[in-house]
Order: sequence, then structure tokens, then C-alpha cells
Amino acid sequence: MRVRSRLIAGLVVIVVALGAAACTGTSSEGRVNVVAAIYPLAWAAQQVGGNRVDVEDLTPPGIEAHDTTLTAAQRADLQTADVVVYLGEIDFQPDVERAVGDAGGTVIDVTAELGIQQQTGDPFDPHLWLDPADMAEVVRLVADALAATDPSGTDDYARREKAALGALEDLVASFRAGLSDCAFTTFVVTHEAFGYLAGAYGLRQLGIEGLTPESEPSAARIQAAAQAIDQGQAAPAVFYEGTDAGRRIGESVAADVGVPALPLGTLESAPASGDYLSVMRANLSSLERGLQCTA
Ligand SMILES: [Zn+2]
Repeated sequence: MRVRSRLIAGLVVIVVALGAAACTGTSSEGRVNVVAAIYPLAWAAQQVGGNRVDVEDLTPPGIEAHDTTLTAAQRADLQTADVVVYLGEIDFQPDVERAVGDAGGTVIDVTAELGIQQQTGDPFDPHLWLDPADMAEVVRLVADALAATDPSGTDDYARREKAALGALEDLVASFRAGLSDCAFTTFVVTHEAFGYLAGAYGLRQLGIEGLTPESEPSAARIQAAAQAIDQGQAAPAVFYEGTDAGRRIGESVAADVGVPALPLGTLESAPASGDYLSVMRANLSSLERGLQCTA
């Protein structure tokens, strides 16, 4: 794996040493400090790290990960963290991407590690965490970085990595079985966040908003989505992401077209209840219902 370690300039070391974190490589309780740019990455670090790690998620609950801005305290935490995990230089979270340049610990650039390339001319689709197979790769990356940072925990990390990978394999199997025989393969979503998931299971998303959510979608896109549903080209449902705006837009379009609005969590920030696995299972249930799958 290609994990970047950055040397801290001498002056910075003197300053952050007052916080005692950077020089010892672990927090005062002996735990490894992990800073994660978004919830799914934080979830992976927590699964693998257990009680050996302190994980900070830079994206607060209820907001779109695209809109993450850092406080001065978060920026300082990122600089002194033992391990930083983010999605890479993909213009997804510009504030985070700028701050990573000053990180003193190990930096995991997920899209670079996974070899995910931007299609020429297209904006980068960051939403790889919604494909559980990609999440398994994230778990492996985090496990390698934690073992390298804290070698005495290697066995513990390996054990937890195996458990997390097992849970993700079960999830993949559920998606494969649940989506294998559906009346529809195209689905209308508020925020076009499901390209990786759709690609993995032979589906196609039709976004009312694009790769980056907007506050108000264009009338043309709403009309195109409604028409696809009317003409039977897309499943008779509108899937919405679990933000206030997502729900409002999804329910409004669904009511106009006369189809149900179904939740489809984007996991761009920590869910109000449950975790990565339970939200993904709920997403599968929504897709099975909306796409009229017979499992
Ligand atoms: Zn998004």
C-alpha cells in the first residue's frame, strides 16, 4: 500500500509537542488518534481499531459531506493525528483536502489506494463507500495503517479486520441475492450518490440532483425523472437521501408523479440511528421494494 508519512517541520513539532500527541504517536491514554473525513471512513477505523483508537469524524451529523468545513480545532486535530483517512484530492471536500497537506501522521488517500480514476471531463464521483465491496478495501487499508502505526496491536487489528470484512461479505451476499431478480433496474434518486452501488449490481441511477447535491433541482431534471417513471423506464418510486432537503425534494417529486418516496441513505454523515451496516441493509430493503425484486 502507498501510505504517505509526512515529516513535521521542526518548529511545528515544538508547538504541537505542547499537546503531547505528535511526539508519542499515540494519545495520552495510549490510544491511536485517527481523524476521518467522513462517517463511513470513521466507521471503518472504529471497527478495526476498537478500544485501541480514538476516532474523530470531521463531518458533523445531518450535513452533506460535500459541505464539510473545518473548525480551527478540527484542523489542529488533523495535523496531529496518528492516522488521517480521507477520500483523496478529488475536489469533494476542499477544506479537508487543503488541510491534509499539513498532516504530520500517516495519510490514507482512499481513491488513490483503490486506483479509482476520474473519467475525463466528468466530475469525480466520491461515493465509493456505498458499494460494500469498496468498503471492504477501505477496512483493509485502515487495518494496514493501524498495524504499522501501533505494531503491538497487530493481532487485535487483524482479528477485528476479519470480523468487519466478514460483516461486509455478508452484506454483499445480501445485495447480490436481494437484487438478482427485479422488475426494474433503473431507479430515480434525489442525489446521484449511488453510481458505485448501481454499477456493482447491474442497476442504473437517474438523479434529480447531480453528483453534488443542490438546494433546488432543475425543472428539466425533475421532468426527465417523472417521465422515466411514467413511461415505465424507471421503477415507480422516488428514492431520497436522509437529509431534510433530500426528503423534501423526494417527497415532492414522488407526490407529483403519484409514486411512493422511499429512503436511501447516502451515509455522508453519521446516521441518526444505527450504523453503516444497518443503513445499508435498510437501503437494500428500500431498493427491493421500489425495484419490485423477488428474492
Ligand atoms: Zn454526495
